[in-house]
Amino acid sequence: MIIIMEPKATVEQINAVKRYMENKGFKIVLNHGDVMTVLAAIGDKRLIEPQSVASFEGVREVKLIQEPYKLASRESKEEDTVIEFKNGVKVGGLEKPVMMVGPCSVEKDFGWLMEVAQAAKEMGCEFLRGGAFKPRTSPYDFDGLGEKGLKYLKEAAEKTGLLVVSEVMDTTDVDMFCDYVDLIQIGARNMQNFKLLKAVGKTGKPVLLKRGPAAAIREFLLAAEHIMANDNDKVILCERGVKGFDSTFTRNTLDIAAIPIIKKYSHLPIIADPSHGTGRRYLVEPMSKAALMAGANGLMIEIHNDPDNASSDGAQSLNLTQFRETQRHLNKLIGRIDYDNKVLKAEIEKAALRC
Ligand code: PEP
Ligand code: MN
Repeated sequence: MIIIMEPKATVEQINAVKRYMENKGFKIVLNHGDVMTVLAAIGDKRLIEPQSVASFEGVREVKLIQEPYKLASRESKEEDTVIEFKNGVKVGGLEKPVMMVGPCSVEKDFGWLMEVAQAAKEMGCEFLRGGAFKPRTSPYDFDGLGEKGLKYLKEAAEKTGLLVVSEVMDTTDVDMFCDYVDLIQIGARNMQNFKLLKAVGKTGKPVLLKRGPAAAIREFLLAAEHIMANDNDKVILCERGVKGFDSTFTRNTLDIAAIPIIKKYSHLPIIADPSHGTGRRYLVEPMSKAALMAGANGLMIEIHNDPDNASSDGAQSLNLTQFRETQRHLNKLIGRIDYDNKVLKAEIEKAALRC
């Protein structure tokens, strides 16, 4: 249930409604907009007659939310959610699409990662991605450098001014992740790991939630709801492809239509991952363009200094030359940066000097 207060409602009036609903067993999430305050009441709607709360002083309207995902739904919040990070980076709404790039797994040593981070910075990207704890289909495959990988990511990000996004797989690692990353990634395989969703929700840190390979859009939004119901509204969704019937040419089927669908039904930002979404490097650029044109708030792309010898996902990773070329095209498409921009050049030089 959504309770919309009058623009001039007083704090006392808002608190009176909040107390009343809490006494009825509802959990209240307050959303103070520019003009008015909205209370999202989560609970069993059979416990209350909407009319009883509609008659409170200062209440403009009471709406029943039809969708099962209450907090994530556009019905509960009309305006787009925009998530702010340090360095002035914003994700969502009409903000410029952001780029999250880096290797599938953090490998080798710090210098190796730094080369990738430099390329990302040079091309105007905002986030450095990299797996330190890797979910692997086979138990015999490389499963990441662990905390050492997170340390490398953080150091490379500090030196270049990038933000860090990395995947957490276990609830016991969530606190440790908060020390190293700006955005906690929940991988596709864990989209419905409800304990993990709760744990990252409780951190209050921004979360990147990837769509499960066999998840319906409704299930995807309900997974986001699990994070939001734990008092964390900083959720970025990621469409990364779903299992299709033909895996001859692609690893997954990138569901481009999911982007405008989610924008219609939810206020949360959504980005696309054409690397996992296709599994083929030659498809990364065309699918990136398609996702941007469909309204994606950003892209996650795997890049690697030597994809043929990568520890994971080499076939879908761009080498640094391919990345620069693709990124140049994408930057042009979204009109993000002017390559003669002196400010950007100075920033890159400064970052290089810090290394
Ligand atoms: C990843 O981003 O490295 C990853 C494992 O992705 P997904 O969870 O989408 O498979
Ligand atoms: Mn990968």
